[in-house]
Amino acid sequence: MAELFYDDDADLSVIQQKKVAVIGYGSQGHAHSLNLRDSGVDVTVGLREGSASRAKAEDQGLKVASVADAVRDADVVVILAPDQVQRLVYADEIAPNLKEGAALVFGHGFNIRFGYIKPEAGHDVFMVAPKGPGHLVRREYADGRGVPVLVAVEQDASGHAWETALSYAKAIGGLRAAGIKTTFTEETETDLFGEQSVLCGGASQLVQYGFETLTEAGYQPEIAYFEVLHELKLIVDLMVEGGIAKQRWSVSDTAEYGDYVSGPRVIDPHVKDNMKAVLEDIQNGKFAERFIADQDAGAPEFKELRAKGEQHPIEATGRELRKMFAWIKPTDTDYTEGSVA
Ligand code: NDP
Ligand code: MG
Ligand code: MG
Repeated sequence: MAELFYDDDADLSVIQQKKVAVIGYGSQGHAHSLNLRDSGVDVTVGLREGSASRAKAEDQGLKVASVADAVRDADVVVILAPDQVQRLVYADEIAPNLKEGAALVFGHGFNIRFGYIKPEAGHDVFMVAPKGPGHLVRREYADGRGVPVLVAVEQDASGHAWETALSYAKAIGGLRAAGIKTTFTEETETDLFGEQSVLCGGASQLVQYGFETLTEAGYQPEIAYFEVLHELKLIVDLMVEGGIAKQRWSVSDTAEYGDYVSGPRVIDPHVKDNMKAVLEDIQNGKFAERFIADQDAGAPEFKELRAKGEQHPIEATGRELRKMFAWIKPTDTDYTEGSVA
């Protein structure tokens, strides 16, 4: 059974006595910064020269500095820039300015797990990774609740890394829901596997194949869109509320029977073999290597795949159909929608 932590297990004053620098003010960075500030923590946001995020942080009344200046002053440095740039920011601006004994905090274990960042021995290294998008981390906190967090300590130089990690987790509201103890390795490998094989990769491919199968058989794209994409949310909401069992309880007997007899035909055992191969490439570092090599080259493969995805006919159909739904607002990039993974 996993080890769980709640508000009563943590002492908020530990993090309140430290100066915290949050590097990056994106999905997670804005949520951590604002929640820490509202929990009475001294926060400075560290951003690069000419950063588009600067005005957003300043509008919220946060202190903003260059990454180097924010780090120089900090007892705790939280690295919430995108995973693919973290090692560059770390080497150029964080490591050279890091105070002796300062703690390093991550929101995902990627750079530590795959060795892209190798902190020196004298620093505590821990992770507080909310299991939800940044906008939800902020909204739940503001509403007096919290999003569950994964907590891990990679390096305990001070002998107090756990205390600091739990205090930090409490300050961002995570322990109002629960903190779950894990390791950098477990968090990184399961996070990548989940998003690749089920949440993002698996679900997207399943929806596209469903849409293609119906439209190639001559059905109208609008009808296909409703059946394989729009209604997915309703089904997933039921699963989140009460497991697969509640979903099956709620749908018709016809749908439930079809689930049992056709689900395993579509997602047959070789899909599980494919998943094992995906997991292997995560564990052996091949996925990380391919991602970082592409990013370092200016992301040609990433950009090509993104463009190809946007060209899929389901997107054009969806853009038109969504205009019918007054309650679905067009996605913006101001973290009211946010990314999940
Ligand atoms: P974002 O892509 O939202 O981060 C963007 C921010 O990083 C912007 O403020 C941007 O500033 C800044 N930034 C980009 N490049 C640099 C740079 N070279 N130097 C300094 N700042 C830079 O990141 P996420 O919030 O999505 O991810 C942050 C971490 O949190 C990752 O480790 C991720 O895996 C993890 N995570 C993310 C989740 C999510 O909901 N998105 C969920 C759980 C974990 P600028 O305006 O200058 O571009
Ligand atoms: Mg139906
Ligand atoms: Mg992820």
